Amino acid sequence: MELLKNKILKDGKIIGQDVLKVDSFLNHQIDIKLFNEIGKEFKRRFEGKDITKILTIEASGIGIACITAQYFNVPVVFAKKQEGSNMDKENYEADVFSFTKNKSYKIKVSKNYIKPEDKILIIDDFLANANAASGLIDVVKQANAEVSGIGIVIEKGFQNGREIIKEKNIQLESLAIIESMGNGKIVFKN
Ligand code: 5GP
Repeated sequence: MELLKNKILKDGKIIGQDVLKVDSFLNHQIDIKLFNEIGKEFKRRFEGKDITKILTIEASGIGIACITAQYFNVPVVFAKKQEGSNMDKENYEADVFSFTKNKSYKIKVSKNYIKPEDKILIIDDFLANANAASGLIDVVKQANAEVSGIGIVIEKGFQNGREIIKEKNIQLESLAIIESMGNGKIVFKN
């Protein structure tokens, strides 16, 4: 997706060896025009797929998922990282290792919001080693529902997330795939 790649080149900041900071349009401030185009592109890539719900993870996935859901006309469910006192007691849970925080946390999704008949599109901002995606897939499996696909805004192609998803035989669509970002230079695949 050229618009997204240009935005990454213009505003993305490389932190250390392998973290891309895109706070100015994706992770802190949100570029709604860009998000609308992202939503349309996900709709195009998953055209013809049976999708009843979008599942994401708080916090950064929520905005992307909500705008994308308008094109699919389905609800959004987001996995919670923290337990609030008003959280349902019956939850699906999975452990996720955070790439950026370097520690594990538990995600929870109420059993009320994923049902066996659901066909789920998983959406997230980044794909690195597929820990978040694997946790979300795990939750869908626990609900005996189906994963229809995974939509990622930015994939870091030099990490092993794609291989992990491929092994699970799930359609993976990433709107920008970074092949390398050494020496302060971002290079995209294609
Ligand atoms: P994974 O679970 O695939 O290893 O990592 C993906 C998750 O970690 C995403 O939900 C995202 O929040 C975070 N993440 C991984 N790499 C990056 C990165 O380079 N930049 C940002 N902003 N977030 C990242």
